[in-house]
This record gives sequence, structure tokens and C-alpha cells, in this order.
Amino acid sequence: MVTLHNLGFPRIGAGRELKWALERYWKGEQGRDVLLATAAELRARHWTAQQGLDLVPVGDFSLYDQVLDMSFLLGNLPERVRGYHGDTLDNYFRVARGRSADSEQHDHDAHHDCCGGVAAGEMTKWFNTNYHYIVPELTAATQFKLNASRLLDQLAEAKGQGVRAKPVLIGPVSYLALGKAHDGSVKLDLLPRLLTVYGELLGQLAAQGVEWVQIDEPILVTELDADWQHAFNTAYHQLKSSRVKILLASYFGALLDNKYLAANLPVAGLHIDALADRADAEQLIGLLPAHKVLSLGVIDGRNIWKSDLGALLDWLEPIAARLGGSLWLAPTCSLLHVPVDLQSETRLDPEIRSWLAFALQKLEELRLLGRALNEGRAAVAQALADNAAALASRHASPRVHDAAVQQALAHATPALEQRHSAYAVRAPLQAAKLHLPAFPTTTIGSFPQTPEIRHARKEYKAGRLSDAQYQAAMRAEIAHGVREQEALGLDVLVHGEAERNDMVEYFGEQLAGYAFSSQGWVQSYGSRCVKPPILYGDVSRPHPITVEWIRYAQSLTRRPMKGMLTGPVTMLNWSFVRDDQPRAITCRQLALALRGEVLDLEAAGVPIIQIDEAAFREGLPLRRAHWQEYLDWAIASFRLMANGVRDETQIHSHMCYSEFNDIIAAIAAMDADVITIENSRSGQELLGAFEHFAYPNGIGPGVYDIHSPNVPTQEAIVQRMRQAARRIPANQLWVNPDCGLKTRQWSEVRPSLAHMVAAAHELRRAA
Ligand code: GLN
Ligand code: ZN
Repeated sequence: MVTLHNLGFPRIGAGRELKWALERYWKGEQGRDVLLATAAELRARHWTAQQGLDLVPVGDFSLYDQVLDMSFLLGNLPERVRGYHGDTLDNYFRVARGRSADSEQHDHDAHHDCCGGVAAGEMTKWFNTNYHYIVPELTAATQFKLNASRLLDQLAEAKGQGVRAKPVLIGPVSYLALGKAHDGSVKLDLLPRLLTVYGELLGQLAAQGVEWVQIDEPILVTELDADWQHAFNTAYHQLKSSRVKILLASYFGALLDNKYLAANLPVAGLHIDALADRADAEQLIGLLPAHKVLSLGVIDGRNIWKSDLGALLDWLEPIAARLGGSLWLAPTCSLLHVPVDLQSETRLDPEIRSWLAFALQKLEELRLLGRALNEGRAAVAQALADNAAALASRHASPRVHDAAVQQALAHATPALEQRHSAYAVRAPLQAAKLHLPAFPTTTIGSFPQTPEIRHARKEYKAGRLSDAQYQAAMRAEIAHGVREQEALGLDVLVHGEAERNDMVEYFGEQLAGYAFSSQGWVQSYGSRCVKPPILYGDVSRPHPITVEWIRYAQSLTRRPMKGMLTGPVTMLNWSFVRDDQPRAITCRQLALALRGEVLDLEAAGVPIIQIDEAAFREGLPLRRAHWQEYLDWAIASFRLMANGVRDETQIHSHMCYSEFNDIIAAIAAMDADVITIENSRSGQELLGAFEHFAYPNGIGPGVYDIHSPNVPTQEAIVQRMRQAARRIPANQLWVNPDCGLKTRQWSEVRPSLAHMVAAAHELRRAA
């Protein structure tokens, strides 16, 4: 008999109940009891939804973040919250978001940042997903102290509900790998202390009658040097004396060179992502000692397409025959990364909907696989036939396949990726056309999304504003933005993006090949969710998207107006992408469709076009050995979109992250005339990248952090620019904020930009 289990369930709730409960609690509109009751209700509901599985995850539920939960469970609280009044939950939210509730007093103590009671913990991406975790803070002095009450309470709750509970933990090696030691200490030195606490924890779980514990070690799919490999051996040899059985879970990729390490660790079972690399999975099956459980992740926990159950059974049946009771099946990873329930999508096109599976539907697929293996395919014949029919419909659908797109792509040769002339030739032509001063000033694109703008969009979507009324409202916003920029004296203007809800959704809505869910929310961090568009078919651009807005904006001013577009790599990385062709091809289709927009903007007289690639870096594969392949097609796609313009047309690109050192050559290979990059939020980490690499084109290292309401001083901006000028020739430098201003208010934007413009004047005078 095959055992069915799940690694984790989305906790936000099908109606985002957790989000609303958290936000009401933080605002003081509801008491803690309501928040905790909502959380308990969600857990109960989600356990019920997982009925029929042999083992159900417990402890995967979190009020904010599972890594932060782990830090609290291990007693690893940052020093700065320890002295605070209140209890664990208050401190938990302080680390998560800087304050326990919105009313908590600001504290301008040196150790506390301006935006909350204390400095919030650093947040960063969970492997290559769009989920953000709170980075564990480690120092040489870090001590751990077990506090398992949260987990034990949930375990008791689950047992009360008759759930066959399998507690879920983040493993000690991954925990250290995910943490940061700002004091420069060696993180692995903490392993012995950490293992003592894990040992105690496993003991407490055993005392509760727990049989299996799932210990997540996703760093097993990344490159591990000898020290980290050794840490795995140390950790699991020490933990093997515990009385629970450990299921070691890896996900987000294949084990590859870590297969031998993983297969030989002294644990009772191993879970792998069996979709990542079939051959690798098969080798592992051969390697794994017969007494160990093998859990195969066979339902994609990261994407939303129905599984091909027939093909999976063809593969699994002989494996099941061989492994018998030691074969387990599960989704590849926690279902945290997909929306909860497809049933909520009543407005989605029925044909497209028939191709999809959200978390609940994925669990149903798992149950079907289990029955087919345990009782024979005949037991679920109808369901298998339905599944096959849905897949056949998707495979053959004219909505997915557009011969014109495929033909155009076949003709999109690498020659289209080349500018006519080299930068050295283009730069003087652009200078002659644009007449910009030294240290030109600009912004990244968006201006504050005011309540009025959001209200207008809501009314428009609800049909209470006509097309014409909505257009007029947005035009008024654009005109306002242009007046503001002229008054401030900025050199290159933007239209302000008032008409855009989101930089990916806005473009996706107007491209063929994209569909949108109405409830397909996925947790991004804390109470924040995103609703990734669904890229299901060949992509084309039925009509121009931005041209009329930018043309209007340009008509209002004699200064150069920058047209603002989202790039193909970011469109790809922030969508649920079709899995029936390589991502590289889908990306190229996006690039070709958007190339038309670039050329239309140019034809409309727009002298500068910015292509945002905010998510360029996060598409990097987890293993460095796979980076170059990604960079090659990602850069080629950017170039295909951008490089059809004349020499005089200036292409900008924008990226919002500062870890640049390792990809700076790739960024240069994009050959944008100007790039603007986040720089100040990260304490100018970016500038280090230019120490050993002479970036050839124009560059605007952001001069102030747009995430904070603080207004930067003129001196601070001048100083930042002077630091940049030490590494980058001054004639290549632009002056701009870190990122777009849509989350700020005009009362913050005006003085900040005034100081920025004044700083540029000061630099020009001094030059
Ligand atoms: N042009 C976009 C804006 O200003 C860029 C956003 C981003 O980089 N995330 O809002
Ligand atoms: Zn940005």
C-alpha cells in the first residue's frame, strides 16, 4: 500500500481570512482572541480538507512566517526585542514587522529604526519562490532554548480533531544556511548548540506519541561545500537517537550531486521533488537502502496545471510494485505556493479552468493516484478519463497554440537582438537629441497611487465609471504628475503609471495568452498576497498598450518623456507559466510581443523607453552551475524586446535589488543605454560590484530608499553620488530614487525629489 501525505497547506485561507484577521488585529480593530480563533478555525478547516491522506502536516500553519516560527521555537529572538514588554506574540510581530500593533509607539533609540517600535527582521526570498521569509539572526553568541508550546498546542488541536499528524520542522542545517551572521562568525559553529535543542524537541514530540516528523532541508537541492555536507552528517547522526522517525524533505529541485549524501543519512525516510529531473529521481531510487521510506513528490506544488495522472501512473506502477509499503506520495513541496481552491474561480473561462488545479484539487489528484496504485486504475477509471480529457483539450486547444506567434518567433533571429551601433556611437547621438545636463535627474516611473486613483479604478471595474470618465480621471492624474515634475525641475519625466494596478497584471491583461483568476491569492509575506497572472498560451499583442498614455504625457511637456514598460523576464517570473514548453520559449514570445510596443512608442515620438526588469535576478536557478543557461536566454529576451530601436532612442532598464556583483557582466550584456538600480536601502552594497567591473553604459544608483517615509537631505544625496563617482565615471551617472514612488505620498515625494534635484545642481556646479 502506498502512503499519501502532504508537506504543507496554504494558511492564508481561501478567502484570505488570515490576512483580514491579522490586519484588523494590528490596527486594533479586533482583539487577539478573534485573531487566534480565526487561526484555529483555518487550521481545522485545512485539516478537514486533507482528509483521506495517511499523514497530514501540523505546524505548517503560521501567523506570519514559518522560518520566524522556527526562530521562536528555537528561542532565537533578536537581542533588540528581548527587553520589550508584552508577551511572545507581541515580540513575534515586532520581529516580523517592527511593531506588535500599529499603535505601538515609535522609538527613536539608536537601535530602533524609524518606522516602528523596533527594526523589523530582514526579509528575503524563500529559495526561488516569491515567498519571503524572515532571516534568522545569528551571532557567535547565539544561544538556543526550546519553546515548543506553539507546535505542541497545534499538535493537541490536530489530535483533538482525529488528524493523523506529522509535525513539520525546518531542519537544523537549512535553518543555519537561511540565517545571517552579521558579526562575521561562522554559522556552522552554532550547529552543536542547535542540535541539542532539536534533540530535545524530537524527544517532546515522541512523548506526545508522534511517529513521523517531517524535517525540511531544502538546501539539499543547492550546491553544498564539504563543510555543509559534513554538517548534514553530523546533524542526522546525532538526531538518529531520537524515538521519532524522521522524514527528511528536500524540494524545489533535484538532488543531483547531493544524492549520495541524502540517500545515506541515517533517517527513516527521504522526500524528493520527483518532477525536477526524472533520471535523477530514478538514480536515487536505485541508491536508497531498502529499509528507508521514499516519498516521491509527484504533484507540482509550485504551479497550477492539472497533473497528467495517466503518465504518472505509467511511471509509478512499476516503482510501487518494487517498493511496496515503503513508497509514499506527496506534492513536490508545500502547497503554500499555490492558491487554495479552484472552485472559487467562477469567472474564469471554463475551458482554461478545466486545465487547472489549485491546492485542494492537487490533493484530490494525490488521492486518485493513491487509489489507482492501491486498488488498480479501474477503481478510479472515470476520474482518470476526465483527467485525460482535460489534458487532451489543453494540448489541442487553439487558445494555447497560435501559428502566427510561432512563425514570428521562428523569424526572430539573434540579429534582431542587436542595436544598430555600439553604445559609443549611440551615446553622442542621444546626447545631441536629448540635451541633458550632467547628472541628469529622473524617477523610476510610478507616482503615488492616491486613494482617488484607487477609487476611480474600483468604480471603473464595477462599471460605475465609463471608459471616457476613467480615461479623463487618469489623464488628469498624468497632467498633475507632469506639472509636479516640471515644478521640481526634473530632467527626464515620467507619466506616473496612474492607470496601472500592477506592473505585470497591467500588461498581462492586454496580451493574448494570459488569463486572470479572481481569488488565486498566494502568500508573499505576512499578510501580503499576490495574484499571479496565468500565462497559458502563445503570447501576442493584439493592440498597443501604453502608447496613448505616453503620447498624451509627452504632449504636455517639452522635456523628454520616458515610456514605461515591463520586461519579458519579469512578466515570466511573476506569473504562473505554462509547463508545456520551456520557459525560455515563453519568455521569447513575451519579448517579441512587447518589442512591438517598444517600436510603437518610438514611432509615436517617445525619445526614451524604460523596460523594467524588477524580477530579473530572482529567476536565477538555485544552483550556480545552471545560472549561465538562464542568463543567456533571459538576456537574449530582453535584447529582443529592446534593441529594435534607432540609435538616437535611449533604452533604460530598472532593477530593484542590490546584489549585483555576481551578475553585473550579464546586466552589461543587456546593453541598455542606462540602468537604474536600487542602491541606498542596501547601504550601497551595489557599488562594490563596480570595483572590479567597469560598467560601460549609463547608470543611476538609487540615491534614496523609497520604502521609508523619511525625506532624504540634499547632503545625504550628494554624499551618495560622490561615493558612486569614486567607482563610476561621473559622466555615466544619473540621479534617481531607488525604485518607483507608488507606495509613497505626495507630501513625501515632493520634498524628497526637490532635495534630489538640488543635489544634482550642486554636483554640476562642483564638476
Ligand atoms: N516602473 C515601476 C515603478 O516605478 C518599477 C517598479 C519596480 O521596479 N518594482 O513603479
Ligand atoms: Zn524597483
